[in-house]
Amino acid sequence: MHELSMANSIIETVLSEANRRNAKAVLEVHLVVGRYTMLGPDQLRYCYKLLTKDTPLEQSRLRIEHEEGRVRCGRCGFEGPIQLREEPQYHLTLPTLECPICEGAVEMVAGRSCYIKSVRLRT
Ligand SMILES: [Zn+2]
Repeated sequence: MHELSMANSIIETVLSEANRRNAKAVLEVHLVVGRYTMLGPDQLRYCYKLLTKDTPLEQSRLRIEHEEGRVRCGRCGFEGPIQLREEPQYHLTLPTLECPICEGAVEMVAGRSCYIKSVRLRT
């Protein structure tokens, strides 16, 4: 389960930071979740609640901010939202990694990761 291991690594990171600063409790964890991480926010919250029981994070609020996908083209320098292409034969709309300006290959620069933006501690 993807969400469980992600929640686990987030909690470990926050706990070690809380320990390092001698915090008594964690008040809030602000998380950024990319649209293309395949992480479900509801499952993430559920796992978070489950894993923070009896830890200094138990009463903390989990704030989830969504990050849209962004791409950058190495050839022409285009940077913008990820382009979607319809695949009528499959009735699907899929993200494409093709530059809308020069048709070169683009690199995804946002939307594919999940990271901790900030943590509020009570000391
Ligand atoms: Zn380009």
